Amino acid sequence: MSTSDCDAATALDRECPTIEGQREFQRIIARTSDVGGIPVARLLPHRQRRLIGAWCFLDHAGPARFEDDQPGLVVGPHPHICLQTFTWMIAGEVLHRDSLGYEQIIRPGQVNLMTAGKGISHIEETVPGCRELHAAQLWIALPYADRFTAPRFDHYPELPRFELGELSATLLVGSYAGQQAPTLSFSPLIGMDLQWRQKGQQRLELNPAFEYGILPLEGGLIVDGSPLAVDELAYLGLKREAVDLEFSGGGRALLIGGEPLDAEITIWWNFVAHSKADIERAQDDWHAGHDRFGEVADARGRRLQPPDIPWRREGKN
Ligand code: MN
Repeated sequence: MSTSDCDAATALDRECPTIEGQREFQRIIARTSDVGGIPVARLLPHRQRRLIGAWCFLDHAGPARFEDDQPGLVVGPHPHICLQTFTWMIAGEVLHRDSLGYEQIIRPGQVNLMTAGKGISHIEETVPGCRELHAAQLWIALPYADRFTAPRFDHYPELPRFELGELSATLLVGSYAGQQAPTLSFSPLIGMDLQWRQKGQQRLELNPAFEYGILPLEGGLIVDGSPLAVDELAYLGLKREAVDLEFSGGGRALLIGGEPLDAEITIWWNFVAHSKADIERAQDDWHAGHDRFGEVADARGRRLQPPDIPWRREGKN
């Protein structure tokens, strides 16, 4: 019945142990950060766990309400490389605009997916008049072979919805229970929203080749016999055939997973890369206004600037 708060020495372990017949999980507790004026619970990357499959970044934003004089979320122009930004909207409306010219409002029940590849820049802003925000924002690292793929933007207004026993599921990416999401992905992975309205329990079948994480977004859960609160991420390692969930009242959780990414990646600021040299080049190109990142016209927010790269000594290069 216990869960282990694995320390850094065991964080690389992708198989959670079974103790007295009970599968354990690694409990990751969110730290609070600020994104565009909104407090967010950041789960990945974490000192204890950097990746789950190719998922390399996970923020739970809100639920937040804004007063009339508050602008809501305002994130100015900033670049990305070698990743996909993935937004799952639960409440509120956010406008995305990017350097390719895409302009898209995302509404509850929809996914926005921006594939950065060799380079793109974008802004995100609460739609004027909208007074609330509840969303999960994630990044998916691109495999080495696709790291410099052509940038693109995709919007998914309709996603597969189905019942899993006592749970209502929305499949955000990947496949599950014979359903397939339309969402573009570059490595085997899954993202699924799970909702419940009353007390109950449900076993979820899992793919033993995937590692998984489950994060309550509203209302707590009991995961394989151990309680898990909102903004606590349970890391469920590889070689697990199922997970048992118990719930009461009503609530919502996000399941993410995938095959472990077959590469070492570096995450710095808004960049993901397979080498530190690629990060340095991206940062220099952003500073220089290189056309790989284009321009986002008429942004409300200021162009974001990265801190100095910690591994690079001043004066070098
Ligand atoms: Mn972004």
